[in-house]
Amino acid sequence: MSAQLIDGTRIAREVRGRVAEDVKALRERTGVIPGLATILVGEDPASEVYVRNKRRLATEAGMADLHRHLDADVAQSTIAEMILALALDDAVSGILLQLPLPAGLDSGPLIDLIPAIKDVDGLTTLSAGLLARGLPGLRPCTPSGVVTLIDSTGFDLNGANAVVVGRSELVGGPMGRLLLARNATVTTAHSRTRDLAAVASSADVLIAAAGVPGLIGAEHVKPGAVVIDVGIHRTASGLVGDVRFDEVREIAGWITPVPGGVGPMTIATLLANTVTAAHIQAKLRAV
Ligand code: NAP
Repeated sequence: MSAQLIDGTRIAREVRGRVAEDVKALRERTGVIPGLATILVGEDPASEVYVRNKRRLATEAGMADLHRHLDADVAQSTIAEMILALALDDAVSGILLQLPLPAGLDSGPLIDLIPAIKDVDGLTTLSAGLLARGLPGLRPCTPSGVVTLIDSTGFDLNGANAVVVGRSELVGGPMGRLLLARNATVTTAHSRTRDLAAVASSADVLIAAAGVPGLIGAEHVKPGAVVIDVGIHRTASGLVGDVRFDEVREIAGWITPVPGGVGPMTIATLLANTVTAAHIQAKLRAV
């Protein structure tokens, strides 16, 4: 039997609709218009597309687009000064430094200049620490969006076996911590995992975030499992994920497509984080 599709495009549209209502309510109540400052350095075509979509959808949700664009040969210190200025600017609710940066620039120290309260990408060391400790904070957009997609199926994470393939700071690492926070029994697989198929096929929920096209096939999937494909790869025949979709959909209970699965949710979650940040900053300013 074929798996049910998890329609990330539709769910993301619903989330953005709720964000737009929230933006309107905040503006009417406090006069605050949430502002998203995206910073793009250089001319990487994929990054340009991602940033353009983030700006367009932020504007559609009623937010202020406070984009900055810097040349690829900009000094690290210039980006640092820009982030520090945005950190102090009350019109800026959220700051997002688009990755990857051009060669020669070091993203880690720059990201850590973003105050946790404006860290709408959830990638600073402080935000990661808050997540690790289970304390309130802004969560990384992609794994947070994945949790929304799992919830949309009605699947109960409590006590379920979850396997995350990948342990990066961007996706796999925080993904595991978010699932643990929902009381899943979490296993993290990575490039040194022995017998990935044996580990992955124990999962009630399988998150593929390895960045390897077609890594996950039928042999990795337990019948009826929820399969979430985070991978995005541009190929001659279009976008593909880490999951061999046609093969796995015959076994899984639920599956995300690529495109139209996790990708749209990442942006919707960024916008949700931005309005949350704006609410918190408005409250802090009021006291
Ligand atoms: P990454 O930094 O390259 O990390 C990949 C992780 O997968 C690493 O932990 C690596 O293990 C593990 N891995 C690599 N090959 C493996 C294998 N054969 N078996 C098991 N594990 C393996 O990538 P990332 O930034 O996390 O991104 C992962 C994928 O998600 C990419 O395709 C990326 O384009 C996509 N992505 C999508 C979105 C979205 O919005 N849809 C957002 C972000 C990323 P080691 O740690 O041992 O090296």
